[in-house]
Amino acid sequence: MIFLGPPGAGKGTQARMVTEKYGFPQISTGDILRAAVKNGTEFGLKAKAAMDAGKLVSDDIVVGIVVERLANPDCGRGFILDGFPRTGGQAESLRQILERLKKKIDVVVDFAVGEDELIKRLTGRRTCKKCGMTYNIAFAPPAKEGICDKCGGELFRRDDDSEETVRARFKVYKDQSQELGKYYSVAGRYVRLDGVAGVDEIFGRIKEIVGEA
Ligand code: AMP
Repeated sequence: MIFLGPPGAGKGTQARMVTEKYGFPQISTGDILRAAVKNGTEFGLKAKAAMDAGKLVSDDIVVGIVVERLANPDCGRGFILDGFPRTGGQAESLRQILERLKKKIDVVVDFAVGEDELIKRLTGRRTCKKCGMTYNIAFAPPAKEGICDKCGGELFRRDDDSEETVRARFKVYKDQSQELGKYYSVAGRYVRLDGVAGVDEIFGRIKEIVGEA
């Protein structure tokens, strides 16, 4: 499955829920890049400036990450691409990678959420350092401030969740990624979801989609 949509639309939250229920791994290029930055790898050093500015990391780097990740045996039964592809070039590379692996995309889910709602969500977002669970200090706070309800890990605010960077990320989405919806809507099974609905309601719809795939 591919999850498309602007930053903060709920792709990561839903991908984690799918992984928990069905076991398909969540492949988040954003998470992999953040780990690379933290560990100071060569990829990470190259990616950091673009990420801090809310811009896209080069196609070469992210495509390399995805090729490596898809070779992992845990992807054999299926996987969720969360935040990839984000450009036409990445979509074309993905087509070639999947052709080589003799795999196909069963469904593309496109999460629709407007800019003002995204700003509210992302500037209040807090992420667990340990398990990646996300909260929102305004409408979905943890029981204990700064601590993950699920695993007790420490919560932090992503560097790129400031209002200025969120606006830049949304602009990048509109300019470079939004058109992928059109690309996939003619290429196969494509479902556009209202990303403003509740988390459980959206997950209910995704379960139906997985069931039909
Ligand atoms: P995300 O966690 O998906 O919001 O990604 C965080 C940041 O990582 C983005 O703002 C980009 O700088 C970078 N990134 C993640 N996925 C991609 C991608 N597919 N192409 C280019 N840059 C990406």
